[in-house]
Amino acid sequence: MHNFFINFFHKIGENPDREGLKNTPNRVIKSWEKLYSGYNKNPKEILQSTFLEHKCSEMIVLKDIEFYSMCEHHILPFFGTISFGYIPNDKIIGVSKLVEVVDAFSRRLQIQENLTTQIADTFMNELKPKGVMVVTQATHLCMIMQGFENKNAKLITSAVRGIFKEDSRSRNEFMKHIK
Ligand SMILES: [Zn+2]
Repeated sequence: MHNFFINFFHKIGENPDREGLKNTPNRVIKSWEKLYSGYNKNPKEILQSTFLEHKCSEMIVLKDIEFYSMCEHHILPFFGTISFGYIPNDKIIGVSKLVEVVDAFSRRLQIQENLTTQIADTFMNELKPKGVMVVTQATHLCMIMQGFENKNAKLITSAVRGIFKEDSRSRNEFMKHIK
């Protein structure tokens, strides 16, 4: 067994030789492949597969994309939904690509604030839309399990870019869509 796990088991008061824990380190390491698969994905590359739609300058909203991430301060899960809206210039992207970008940024050690702004900024830089707005709502096990927060408390973060900054009508329209 790797020293890391032996130390961990000792630290919390467990017996590393206990039968039930024998394969736990292997299972944990195996689970990392999925939990941290975002490091192997390049969001910029995912956003290259756009299509042109010159006539479309209306707002496009994708609501409640589910995500699972790990808090970089406590290595405990935080999870929830991301709602995403943009006003294209002429480039449009498929729904599945947006979901892939959310996965690429969330399946890493993260904090919610960065997750939200990284999605907005990368999208802004790659597609050059008129504006992007991202709203993330999440439950943080690190807060709940340690008893820092009310059990129902959710953290909400947002990132507002481009036209959404000046244009309160667009902002309100987006908020109405994701309600
Ligand atoms: Zn935390």
